[in-house]
Amino acid sequence: MNASTILDHLVAHATAAPDAPLFTFPAEDDRAPIPFARAAELIGRLATVLTADGVAPGDRVVAQVPTGVESVLLCLATQWAGAVFVPLNPALGTDETRLLVDDADPTVSVIGADALAALVEAARGHDGASAGVDPGRPARRGPDDPAAIIYTSGTTGRPKGAIVTHGNLVSNAETLAETWGFTRDDVTVHALPTFHAHGLFVAVNTAVVAGSSLHLLGRFDADRVIDALDGPGTVLMGVPTFYGRLLASDRFTRQVADGVRLFISGSAPLTEKVFGEFEARTGHRILERYGMSETEMIASNPLHGERVAGSVGFPLGGVQVRIRRDDDPSLGLAEVDEPGGIEVRGPNVFPGYWQMPERRTTDFTDDGWFRTGDLGTLDHEGRLRIVGRAKDLIISGGENVYPAEIEGVLDQLPGVSESAVIGMPDDDFGELGLAVVVADPAAPEPDPATLLAALGDRLAHFKVPRVCVVADELPRNAMGKVTKAVLQQRYTDEWVRVRADR
Ligand code: AMP
Repeated sequence: MNASTILDHLVAHATAAPDAPLFTFPAEDDRAPIPFARAAELIGRLATVLTADGVAPGDRVVAQVPTGVESVLLCLATQWAGAVFVPLNPALGTDETRLLVDDADPTVSVIGADALAALVEAARGHDGASAGVDPGRPARRGPDDPAAIIYTSGTTGRPKGAIVTHGNLVSNAETLAETWGFTRDDVTVHALPTFHAHGLFVAVNTAVVAGSSLHLLGRFDADRVIDALDGPGTVLMGVPTFYGRLLASDRFTRQVADGVRLFISGSAPLTEKVFGEFEARTGHRILERYGMSETEMIASNPLHGERVAGSVGFPLGGVQVRIRRDDDPSLGLAEVDEPGGIEVRGPNVFPGYWQMPERRTTDFTDDGWFRTGDLGTLDHEGRLRIVGRAKDLIISGGENVYPAEIEGVLDQLPGVSESAVIGMPDDDFGELGLAVVVADPAAPEPDPATLLAALGDRLAHFKVPRVCVVADELPRNAMGKVTKAVLQQRYTDEWVRVRADR
């Protein structure tokens, strides 16, 4: 169909298959499924309430609310009213929240579970006749109109809100539904937070476009996810930590995975170790994809072709990817397999950051490619591999060291469950690597010196971290990304002490 917004798809399904379930819930939640027609009605009514509260097309609606179906409905209702949805992580502190709300300059802010419940209650009671919006039809929006602003994680200094347009969302969801073979019979098991592009857009919009169902769990709990996969689920959309945690459960067996057609991973690197263990346990090769708030999804391993561990696959249909030498715009494009800055162009790419027009010139090339800030390689077949973030790149004695490469080798060593390599300051070399390793509970504790020696056998000398420490766990954010800045801070004192001892 020729849709300009996700809501066009929703309304089309609500008309063609009104009783098809859009949202379903686990039995213990004691909630009735919400079919497409009912969802459209609820969204339209919520939009009416927002409009009555003064929300006009183009206005911002900030939502800092718990993950769940109501937050998804509020996102779609904001778009129904023609306005711009601004989700905030409920874990943010008051000061951080205030900074983002000030920046977004919203007409309405929905902060907290009670405010959301009151809004939903008002929508249920609203007849829709008195306000300015016809609840039967979404506001007309074009592909360039903003649908959402997503504040990117780990902001320092002035917050950066990525403007996401209707065209970005609809083109990407249509491409994903096709690439991943979604049909009406699919049931996506959804256990992701709904304040982030992964849980709010990738999971929800792909299902809406396909006319399929979302089985909403509200949060990750291995037992709940296993029940859902053993039950109605046909697709799991997750972050790598989901897969590690499923593997840690004895209940997660080949039989549980038998009725599932596709396991998808993204938002952070999936280790070759988890990929391999998952295949050994279930016979499924996890499909890894890559994207970011600014671009929606960029690349994916194929549904039918070979899924390669450690690679995020090929650029999606209509999306172009190229690699720029060392992320320096003045240098040329990289050769096959040569690492550099990933640049992307296509209908998925956002127009810029909210109220930061000056960044267009720094974040985009003259010919309109977005500089992602991620580093990667393209191989001779066109497969993309992520080797790290530009800001995590370690430059040691003038040599570029890509943490992902070293982490990949470390993760394979005996006794290592997972690892993170960070750069630490050094007067002589500029930076030196520090490896933080989490021990595998099923194996004897690894000896740091042995691990470093093993790295020395496998990698060029300049790549081998100078120090290795064993930690209980790696700090991660809500999307399962290792927060390297937190690690750097955590090990600053230790680094100074260890370096002084030498
Ligand atoms: P966000 O905007 O919060 O979704 O974060 C996007 C960032 O997550 C990207 O720029 C990458 O650094 C990282 N990312 C997403 N997917 C992957 C992946 N499959 N492998 C490695 N990094 C990823």
